[in-house]
Amino acid sequence: MTTFIAITVKCARCGVESQHEHLGSVSSSGYPDLDGRPPPRRRDTMSSWLQECPDCLYVARDLSVASTAEADAVREIGFIEAGLSEGMPDLATRFMRRAYIDARTGNLRDAVRRLLHAAWVLDDFEMNATAIRRRAADVILSLREAADLDLRLLRLDLLRRTQAFKEAILEADNMLRDLSDPDHRKVALAQRRAAAEKRSTALSLSEALRPSPRSGRRRVVTFVRR
Ligand SMILES: [Zn+2]
Repeated sequence: MTTFIAITVKCARCGVESQHEHLGSVSSSGYPDLDGRPPPRRRDTMSSWLQECPDCLYVARDLSVASTAEADAVREIGFIEAGLSEGMPDLATRFMRRAYIDARTGNLRDAVRRLLHAAWVLDDFEMNATAIRRRAADVILSLREAADLDLRLLRLDLLRRTQAFKEAILEADNMLRDLSDPDHRKVALAQRRAAAEKRSTALSLSEALRPSPRSGRRRVVTFVRR
């Protein structure tokens, strides 16, 4: 069973105290999507992943901790409007704010993660998360060699989900030339296959690792190693 504990936290930036939900325990079942999105019950805990100060709008995993750079990022013009569209759910806005702080303080990997979380919130509200996913894909690209395999695999998903199918296929082919780990290859192949079929919906990890055989004689798109 998933339980939350109410806690009071003092904001390290402005000193105002506020109440937050702290995750006690969580029950989870099922596989995550290929972009790491957890199954529904686990997603219900997303409201406790970050704390947001109701006074100064600082956002952090723990509001009682703020570096000078993080506190300064909140003060910057455009902080509130940074990439936020009207009607965005509060929880998505919270993740976007943290993504902004992470990006401004040079934590680009964390920024990608938070952008992704904002996208998942929009997915659950059945809202369009294309702009956020594009931005996350761009941040990964900007990391160049610093982007590790996980981030590059994630970028494949982001490209496909934003219907940049051609780019996703090219990048998958690129990666498959060097990928040796069987599971990583399966994930890249699943992304490539879905992109070739112009599928922009979420793929589950189980589907990628154990692709179900197609019925009939229809030829499955396969990757030829060059
Ligand atoms: Zn505050």
